[in-house]
Amino acid sequence: MAKTKEKLTLESPVSQLRGFGKQAVKRCDTLGVKNIQSLLTYYPFRYNDYRATDPEKVPAKAQITMLGRVDSIPNRKYHGRRNTETFRLAYDNDEKSISVTFFNCAWLVHKIHMNDTVIVYGKANKFQNWQGDTVTSINGARIKGVPTHASLADIVKPIYPSKHGIKQSKIQRMVKDCYQQCAPLIKEIVPQSIRKKYRLEPEARVVHDMQFPQSEKAERLARRTAKFNEFYTYEMKLAKMKQDNAEKRGIAVTYDPKLLRRFDDSLPFQMTKGQLRSVYEIVTNLRTPTQMNRLLQGDVGSGKTVVSAFGILATISAGYQAAIMIPTSVLGEQHYKTFSRLFKNLNIHILLLTSDMKPAEQRQAQKKIASGDAQLVIGTDSLIQPSVQFKRLGLAVIDEQHKFGVSQRKALVDKGRGVNELSMTATPIPRTLAITAYGDMDISIIDTLPKGRKPVITKWIRPIQFNTFVPFIKQLLSKGQQVYCVVPLVKQTDSSDDKKPSKRKSQQLSLDPQLKAHYSSILLKSLEPQSKSDKKKPNNDKLDSVTAYHHFKKLFNGYRVGLLHGQMDDDEKDKVLRDFKDGKIQFLVSTTVVEVGVDAPKATMMIIENADNFGLSSLHQLRGRVGRNSIQSYCLLVASPKTENGRKRMRVMERTNNGFIVSQEDLKIRGAGDIFGQNQSGLPSFSVADPIADEVILECARREAQNRIMRHPCIKSK
Ligand code: ADP
Ligand code: MG
Repeated sequence: MAKTKEKLTLESPVSQLRGFGKQAVKRCDTLGVKNIQSLLTYYPFRYNDYRATDPEKVPAKAQITMLGRVDSIPNRKYHGRRNTETFRLAYDNDEKSISVTFFNCAWLVHKIHMNDTVIVYGKANKFQNWQGDTVTSINGARIKGVPTHASLADIVKPIYPSKHGIKQSKIQRMVKDCYQQCAPLIKEIVPQSIRKKYRLEPEARVVHDMQFPQSEKAERLARRTAKFNEFYTYEMKLAKMKQDNAEKRGIAVTYDPKLLRRFDDSLPFQMTKGQLRSVYEIVTNLRTPTQMNRLLQGDVGSGKTVVSAFGILATISAGYQAAIMIPTSVLGEQHYKTFSRLFKNLNIHILLLTSDMKPAEQRQAQKKIASGDAQLVIGTDSLIQPSVQFKRLGLAVIDEQHKFGVSQRKALVDKGRGVNELSMTATPIPRTLAITAYGDMDISIIDTLPKGRKPVITKWIRPIQFNTFVPFIKQLLSKGQQVYCVVPLVKQTDSSDDKKPSKRKSQQLSLDPQLKAHYSSILLKSLEPQSKSDKKKPNNDKLDSVTAYHHFKKLFNGYRVGLLHGQMDDDEKDKVLRDFKDGKIQFLVSTTVVEVGVDAPKATMMIIENADNFGLSSLHQLRGRVGRNSIQSYCLLVASPKTENGRKRMRVMERTNNGFIVSQEDLKIRGAGDIFGQNQSGLPSFSVADPIADEVILECARREAQNRIMRHPCIKSK
């Protein structure tokens, strides 16, 4: 086929390149490379540096690479079946030389000649000579001839991200071919003025120096610009998207400011600065005829609920309905109570719709939603069933938004036309990152905690230290304070002989095996009645949640110990939580069901067993269950982490109570890719740039992109 006829552009598919057959095109496809532009900027993440290592400095057996001149022809020796070829290699401008030995490589004699410049790859071999000095030689593995004036590009090899075992040499070849054919096509990405301001390199130079760097400095400068360019391109897209969104018509809420002021006056506390600013941003946004798409970020306990109440009140007072979607029915009931209290004198009809309501009750509720009688609807994901129809939905609040998928959020917003969206999250991330991660959303941040909150004192202890804390915990309990104890449970694999009556439900969960060691001595006794009935089952190393409960019941003899786990019926769960809130239960052994939003203000201690099994954000959420009033609260992390990252997490928790810092540390430990799983948010996977490590560059690129869109609103983003 006559490929050469067609004129190449950066957008041309790689199949148009000379020498790119089916195989090459398939490889590009696998790597996600669509066109010439993306192949040119398919950048290496590192370079294998084959420059000479100083053989005297490396330890024995270390990999070694030497560029040098062949200083003696290979000398073959026969040792039975094992032959060696040995020659000397001069290096450092002939100042030094080293002995190189290859095993069973007869061909070497033909391959290299006196005075050839070669690169030898191998392992350092150290031995003592007869004078007692340590001498280094090389056990050669590979050898490569190079032109006399070898440049860095010859001996520094780019290493690319690869998939499905595509060989580096293939990628290197493709990139090089593409570059040779298309280098003149390369265009600038960033306008001249911005390039000048940040001293960025021209794009042609960037591509060259990223792919084939001539020096470390060149590579460093190129990479810096490449990062900027990558962020800039992305931020231009975002800015454009936001601009388009701003043109989307949404419901304009004309509310009565006096009503909001009266509501503020009715609150039993003073709103914090962060809360007031967020309220202002939200209601201003609601008033305009553009559709609100806003994320409210605030640490656990920062008071997001009441902020959302302002938006809800404004919406309802303008004649629309509002809905709040929450992840669990427990939280739903809590919100129902909170809003009933907040809106006590306002004559607003609030309705609860959860999945565990009876079908008849649900139908009844749906009727009220459809007729518009229900002004504020609080519900789980049962809100997004097709059978739920709103009369005039004006505001969709999504609480704990990180627990919902994008499609669920959208489903709620789509229950009306131009519905304003307010998402709330307690896993706050730094602003710039949030803007990038949540793409087209506007962001409001509550960065202040209500007055009088004392930071939770957090301590990381080893399991064997736990008993020394028991008296202290008992003291708290005696003072009428309450304790959570979270035990991470792991699911047992389905046992086929399970008969599944509801009583056995709890036993499908078992304690993390690591906890066994911790409890074993005390538990052995309490296990006895069970293990007798279960004799046939080799179940001894699987302790269920009930057992943990028994353990603590014994340890805190005389106090009221309760148990909560995910496999209990909702009724049972609610009863336990209510008992805990009412103080009937003092010490609550629980699985992670308590993680999200549960509010029991008298709880002052959170014990987390095997804390290293949790991620930082979960730990922070769990800790957020205590410290909800002015009494000093505590968090005990019981763990003996096996990994350095596990230990790091414990230390971060001890050091800070601030969710923003926790998440920043989390990002550092895990990297952004892990936090923003692809379905979580729109954070793109950048190839050279890293939104965390390169935050400063990201910030600059964002500012420039925004300025540019603002000044030239009709720029077409690619
Ligand atoms: P979160 O942001 O974690 O959802 P909540 O909205 O549940 O936090 O608020 C936590 C607690 O703080 C609630 O009991 C609420 O009444 C209280 N609260 C909210 N704002 C303030 C404030 N400005 N001053 C004092 N207490 C407040
Ligand atoms: Mg909340």
